[in-house]
Amino acid sequence: MLPSPVLCYHRIGGPLELGVTRVGRSVFARQMRALAHAGWRTLSLEEFARPQAPHAAGRTFLLTFDDGYSSLAEYAYPVLADLGFTATTFLITDYVGKTNDWDVRYTWNRLRHLTWQQVEHWRAGGFHFGSHSATHRRLPWLADRAVEDELTRSREVLVNRLGPAAGRAIAYPFGAVDQRILRHATAAGYELGFGGVKGNAEILNLARTPVYLWDVGDVPVGLRSDAIGSLGRTVAHVANRCAIGTAIMQLARRRTAPPPESIADAAAGHA
Ligand SMILES: [Zn+2]
Repeated sequence: MLPSPVLCYHRIGGPLELGVTRVGRSVFARQMRALAHAGWRTLSLEEFARPQAPHAAGRTFLLTFDDGYSSLAEYAYPVLADLGFTATTFLITDYVGKTNDWDVRYTWNRLRHLTWQQVEHWRAGGFHFGSHSATHRRLPWLADRAVEDELTRSREVLVNRLGPAAGRAIAYPFGAVDQRILRHATAAGYELGFGGVKGNAEILNLARTPVYLWDVGDVPVGLRSDAIGSLGRTVAHVANRCAIGTAIMQLARRRTAPPPESIADAAAGHA
C-alpha cells in the first residue's frame, strides 16, 4: 500500500549520551549526502500518503525525526535543505520551546526542544510536522481519558499553530500502540500513525526502519561498491536504533513491574 521505506532518527549531534539514539552530525550529513548522490529522494508526508503514489517506482523514502530536539534546526535541517531533502518531525507538543528533563540521566545535560518559532521557520521552508503526543508517555499504559488527552490536545495545538496538515500524522511514543490506542487515534482525527518496527501496515500503525529496502546494489557508476556497502550497513545500523530502544524498554518492563511514570519516562526518553 505504501511502498516507500520510512527512516527514523531521534537526535542529531549535541551532547554524548549513554543511550542509543544519538547520531553524530557528521555521520548524519555523510549519510544524507551519500543517499542524495545515489539518487534517493525524500517524500513529503502528503506524497507518502497518496494512495496511487507516483513515487512507487522511484528511490524515495520518508525521513522522520521523533521528539523534536532543537539540535535538528542546527545540524539536520540545514543539511537536508542543501540537498533538496525534506523531513517530517514528530513533536511532543507540551515540550515545544522547553527543556526536556527525562534525558538527564543519559547525557547529564538537559536537552532543548525546538521552539514554535523554529518550527514555523522550517515549515515555511518545506519541512513537515506531526504529533508525538503531548507529554511522551507510553500510551498503552494510560487510562482512556489520559490517552484521549495526549492525542487530542497534541493534535489541537498543532492544527491551531501550523494548520490542518500538522494534524494528520502521529508517531506513538516508544512505538507503543495497541488496538485501543488505534481507536483513540482514529477518534482524535489522525489519518496516519507510525508504530515501531513491528507496525502492521495498517494506515494508523505503519512500520518504520525497513532498512532492507535500501537497494545498495543499484548504484550509480562512480561510487565505489565498498563505500555503498558501508553506507547500507551504516544506515541499517542507525535505523535499527529505533528498534533497539524499544526492545530495551520492553525487556526492562518484562523484568520488573512497570516503574512509576517518572522513571518510565526517564528510562524511555529515547524512543
Ligand atoms: Zn520519542
